[in-house]
Amino acid sequence: MLRCALHDGLPAATWALLLGLCCLAGPVAAQTPTELVRQGHMPADSLFRLFYVPIEVPAGTAEIRVREDYGHDGGNVLNMGIYDPAGYRPGTTAGFRGWSGGAKTAFFINAQAASTGYVPGPVRPGTWHVLLYPSTIAPAGLDWKLTVTLVPGPVGPLFVPAPAATVINTRPGWYQGDLHLHTLHSDGRRTPAELVDEAVAQGLDFIISTEHNTNSANLSWGRYARPNLLVINGEEVTTTAFGHWNALGLEPTTLIDWRYVPADSSIARYTAQVRALGGLAIINHPFFPDTVNRFRFGVRHFDGIEVWNGRWDARNERALAWWDALLRQGRPLLAVAASDTHTAALSPNQLGRPRTVVQATGLSRAGIMQGLRARRAYLAADRALRLTLTAWAGGASAGIGDTLVAAAGQRLEVAFELRGASAGTVTLLGESGVLATSPVAATGSTAVRWPLAGRPRYLRVEVRNPTGAMLALTNPIWVSSRPGRAGK
Ligand SMILES: [Zn+2]
Ligand SMILES: [Zn+2]
Repeated sequence: MLRCALHDGLPAATWALLLGLCCLAGPVAAQTPTELVRQGHMPADSLFRLFYVPIEVPAGTAEIRVREDYGHDGGNVLNMGIYDPAGYRPGTTAGFRGWSGGAKTAFFINAQAASTGYVPGPVRPGTWHVLLYPSTIAPAGLDWKLTVTLVPGPVGPLFVPAPAATVINTRPGWYQGDLHLHTLHSDGRRTPAELVDEAVAQGLDFIISTEHNTNSANLSWGRYARPNLLVINGEEVTTTAFGHWNALGLEPTTLIDWRYVPADSSIARYTAQVRALGGLAIINHPFFPDTVNRFRFGVRHFDGIEVWNGRWDARNERALAWWDALLRQGRPLLAVAASDTHTAALSPNQLGRPRTVVQATGLSRAGIMQGLRARRAYLAADRALRLTLTAWAGGASAGIGDTLVAAAGQRLEVAFELRGASAGTVTLLGESGVLATSPVAATGSTAVRWPLAGRPRYLRVEVRNPTGAMLALTNPIWVSSRPGRAGK
C-alpha cells in the first residue's frame, strides 16, 4: 500500500519496500553509465501525497539524469523534483536540487549545469530522493516509472551563481513592477533572457521572479542584467491542493518549503521565514479556479492578496471583495496586481498587464520591498495609467498607504488625478461603500476633488472602464485620530 510520506519518519529503505520498488541495475563498468529503474502504482487515493523514491548514487558520478513515464489517461499529472543526500525531509531544504512540477518529464544535473528548475552543483554520493506528487489522478490510479541514469566521470568546472544586482538606483519615485511571472524554470515558456527583454519593452522598472517551488532562476538573473531593470527574487510556493502564495524579496539561495497542509499549522513558520528576510508573503489568485488551488491557509499569516491576476474577470472581482471585507474589519492587507505570465505576448496574461506601481526610496530590492510593506502602491491595467491620491484634514495630508491624522469633526478633502484613461468611472470608497463617483475625462487627464461630510476609516479609489473592467485600483489611505500605522 502506498502511504503519504508527509509525516513519517521511516528510513529510505523502508519506503522502497512500501513502494514495491524494483531495481534493475545494469553492469557497472568504468565510464559506463548505470541505468536504474524504479516503478510502481499509485491508487486514486494517493492524490496530493508525497512519495520519495530513494536512489543510491555512487562516488564518481558526474551527472544524474531522471526520466519519468506515467499514463496520462484520465488527465493524470505526476509532479517531480529531487533532493540530494544533504536532506529531503519536509522542513529542511538543505538537499533541494530542483523541482519541475508537471512541466517536465525528464531532467539532468551535473556540477556545471542543470535543466531549468534544477540546481547545478556536485553530484554528491549517497542516497538521493526523487519526489513524486500526484496532483491529478484517474480513478484507476496511475502506473509510474522512473529511469535514472548515473553518468560516471570527472567533475567539470563548478557552477557559479550570478544573482541579480540588488540596487539599480537610489532615486525616490514611483516604480512599475510585475510581481508574478514564470519562465522555463517552471511552467513558463520564455527563457529568462526573453523575459527581461520583454519587461524592458513593456516599460517595467522591476520584475519579481516567482517560479513554482524552486529558486533555480534566482541563481542566474545576474547573467541577464538589463540597464534600469531590477529583478527581485521570489518564489511561488505552490500546493495544488491548498493554493498558491508568493514569497517576495528573498535571497537568491532561499527556498521556501511547500510540503505541509493547513492542518499542520506550520504555515506561520514559513511566512515568518519570508518576513525575516525582509520579504512579504502574498496570497495568489485566491479564487482560481473554484475546484482546486482555492486558498485554504489562514489569511492572518499573510501580508497581502493578489486581488488582480491577469485579465480582469469574475475571480478577480471575488478577490477584490474579499480584500475589501478584510479592510472593513480593520485588517490592512496589501493589494497587488500581477500578470502571472507564462507565455509570450497575446496570451491572456501579458507581462506587465496588470502591474503594481510602488512608491520607493529607490529602484532597489530594499526600497521596493519597503514601499510594498508600507502599502504605498496602486494597481494599474497597463503602463499608460498613472494616478495620485491625496487626502487632507486641516493642515495634515496623506498619500496612498499613509495614515491621515484627523481630529473628530474635522472635515476631510480628497484629491485624485488620473492620466492614461479617457472613458469610465472613478469611484471613491470607504468601509461604508461608495463615497463619491466622477466620470473619467475624455481628454485622458482627470482631476477630481471631493469634500467629505463623514469620517471614513479608510479611503481608496477604483477606476473602471465603461464595461466595468478594472483600469486602476489604489491601496487605502487610512484615517485615524492618532498617528500610527493602519489597523493598529
Ligand atoms: Zn499560481
Ligand atoms: Zn503563477
